[in-house]
Amino acid sequence: MIIRDRLYIDGQWVTAAGQKTLQVVNPATEEVIAEVPAGSAPDAAAAVRAARAAFADWAAAPLEERAAWLKKLAAGLQARAEELATLITAELGMPLDLSRSIQTDMPLDIIEGYADMLDCFQDEHIDSAVVVREPVGVVACITPWNYPLLQIVLKVAPALLAGCTVVLKPSELTPLDAFLLADVVAEVGLPAGVFNLVSGSGEEVGEALARHPEVDMISFTGSTRAGRRVSELGAATIKRVALELGGKSPALVLDDADLSAAIEATLDNCFINSGQTCDAMTRLLVPEALYERTVAMATEKAKAYTVADPVGSKAKLGPLVSARQQQRVRDYIQKGIEEGAELLCGGGEQPAGLKRGYYVQPTIFGGVTPEMTIAREEIFGPVLSIISYKDEEEAVRIANDTDYGLAAAVWSADEQRAHAVARRLRAGQVAVNGGADNLIAPFGGYKQSGNGREMGRYGLEEFFEIKAILSPQK
Ligand code: NDP
Repeated sequence: MIIRDRLYIDGQWVTAAGQKTLQVVNPATEEVIAEVPAGSAPDAAAAVRAARAAFADWAAAPLEERAAWLKKLAAGLQARAEELATLITAELGMPLDLSRSIQTDMPLDIIEGYADMLDCFQDEHIDSAVVVREPVGVVACITPWNYPLLQIVLKVAPALLAGCTVVLKPSELTPLDAFLLADVVAEVGLPAGVFNLVSGSGEEVGEALARHPEVDMISFTGSTRAGRRVSELGAATIKRVALELGGKSPALVLDDADLSAAIEATLDNCFINSGQTCDAMTRLLVPEALYERTVAMATEKAKAYTVADPVGSKAKLGPLVSARQQQRVRDYIQKGIEEGAELLCGGGEQPAGLKRGYYVQPTIFGGVTPEMTIAREEIFGPVLSIISYKDEEEAVRIANDTDYGLAAAVWSADEQRAHAVARRLRAGQVAVNGGADNLIAPFGGYKQSGNGREMGRYGLEEFFEIKAILSPQK
């Protein structure tokens, strides 16, 4: 049992204002594995005060110095990489091998990438004006559970590099990696108040941060529901609010595509992290003429996605994060059946041989029509909907017929044609024929998938204020 009984505020581990605690449950064993403080509004306020007090010196520190701190943080985390991967598997349920690469190596690469990104601070000249980039101020980072450390560093690393100070509120379901990050912050001796950690619920700590007049910006990743709430609260003090929200992303397979490759990549993308991925391709759009082949191939290929204990097995999928999430996904599967979609494989029953743990079988529905609930709402579980279309026009229309717009994929033998279709899709990131991973390309949503961008230069720019200093004409 891991007991974390303090919050990290103003460079110190301090006792929370209240007595309440939050329990962390391992979703594979259903056992309580840890306890963390349930912070409250006074804790949030203390953290904001510390961040505000530290801001001026941190913002004024030479850029190279802030970058050097990021390198120290990355090195400190690297030294504890295996512990981190194990912790994240225990709190989230992702298979350990994947936790090592996606939940640990990738966040470290991101911190190191930002530590080298010094050329984005250049002044710009517009006639007689010089345009300078300055940090926005105190940033509250509110993060979800599905890629916990990754979502944290996508905010904290660029914010710190930009010269902002930070208060982090991680998801109450997966706070342990955030505590390890705070351990490393303390170990390397980052100046007091620059980074603060307040664990607790969204309603209590998240809302207190969103309301707080001394918070200049909220960087939020999570559901559209909570994003809307944070925006409403932040509006009272005209905060900058950067939102990374949900998705219902389409993989659009054109009639000349390599069908096998497209299906394989879509299943990988849809089922990874048991479908708990904001940019998961959960709608597979195929031409009517290829529908039967698609169904046969997808059903066959789905057999490779084994569900098992995330530790000590060759599982591709572990459990979902919580009993609540498992039930939510089962309800969507039931809804799909009730609304007339064809259950091709998987289903809502507990996978064979797994008596406990919040598992859901990888599930594929065929015959899905665009108005069905499973084609419209974000399920956040391993559930794929196959939808057929008549022609390219209809395909683009169906792909865009969603409240979301986070990501999309296009598959075609003709790259030019695929790019032309990619430009017609209302989504922040479109992968053509599988698209290579790119940790410095902008990532973020159109429509109700949000309004911010993360990763690379665009992720850094979210944390800048832009100032024009005007000189007399010469
Ligand atoms: P939630 O929106 O429930 O939670 C996200 C964070 O917001 C948590 O820290 C949560 O706290 C907090 N929160 C909840 N309610 C409030 C509130 N009223 N005020 C302030 N903060 C609040 O989302 P989930 O954790 O369930 O994450 C899943 C969702 O996140 C999915 O919809 C997914 O698509 C989206 N997501 C988007 C990503 C993107 O980059 N676009 C990436 C990852 C996920 P608490 O600890 O209480 O839960």
